[in-house]
Amino acid sequence: MASGLNPKGELFHWDLYALLYAPQEVYFGHELQVNVNLIETVTLPDGTERVYLSPTKRRGVERRALLYAPVGDKFLTDLLGCGIPDTCGRETCPICRVYGALVTEKRGDIERTTFIGRLTHGGGVAIPPLPPEEKQRAMHPSDLRREAGNEPQPFKRQYGAPGLLFPVYNHVLSATEEEFRAVAYAFLESLPRLGAGNPKGLDVYEDEAFGPYLVLDRYRAPLGRRVVLDPTLKTPEEALEAFRRRAAEAPEADPLFRRHRGRAALEELRRLARAFVEEDLRALER
Ligand SMILES: [Zn+2]
Repeated sequence: MASGLNPKGELFHWDLYALLYAPQEVYFGHELQVNVNLIETVTLPDGTERVYLSPTKRRGVERRALLYAPVGDKFLTDLLGCGIPDTCGRETCPICRVYGALVTEKRGDIERTTFIGRLTHGGGVAIPPLPPEEKQRAMHPSDLRREAGNEPQPFKRQYGAPGLLFPVYNHVLSATEEEFRAVAYAFLESLPRLGAGNPKGLDVYEDEAFGPYLVLDRYRAPLGRRVVLDPTLKTPEEALEAFRRRAAEAPEADPLFRRHRGRAALEELRRLARAFVEEDLRALER
């Protein structure tokens, strides 16, 4: 078996499109600048700098949500001996199956193996183009950031503004519904934990017209318009309109393509997350 995996059940592709918003200011550490508390940003072709919720960070938070899922009186990470970067590479591990695994040498009962990661993450460029704001945020002086001389400077940090919208996308290549349950659980469970330090947390944007801005596709052939937003969009109104327009472009009742939108998409994700806990985690407990 070249893939190293024996799927149990029918395989489909799965796409999840969401528009997240920050209910308060947010901070995502800049990868190269962890000590000076700059927020991660990207620069667009028009020269504007945007706050960036990088797909890599989202993937890490989701994976951690799974590793620390409760199974009886244990964390899943301890039950399976699965961690970051030491993946367990067991066929029974719901994390390794979709996030991928690499075991370079035999460890105890764990064999050398590679599972290709079938889950990928995208999006994350904030709309609108509000620049990060620098704030002095601490009671305690700190010398993390020295600006002049040797006097310790008050702790400063950049923040993304409350209300920023972040279009984000999760895609799974050829997975059974059972395998996708872990992805649904991780996506929902990661929302309150996105960001670094405090405060943390994003949520799915929601309004009367559309409900929660979520689209969930399950398909064999890519027949629906991808609900991906142009990062150069300037206003939240434009972003919401583009999301709704693209979400509407999909075949209805096609055996090769099924799309859930808004409230129905959220309910479907919750159904899958519940099945992950009630069936998949419980089966590991035995
Ligand atoms: Zn694992």
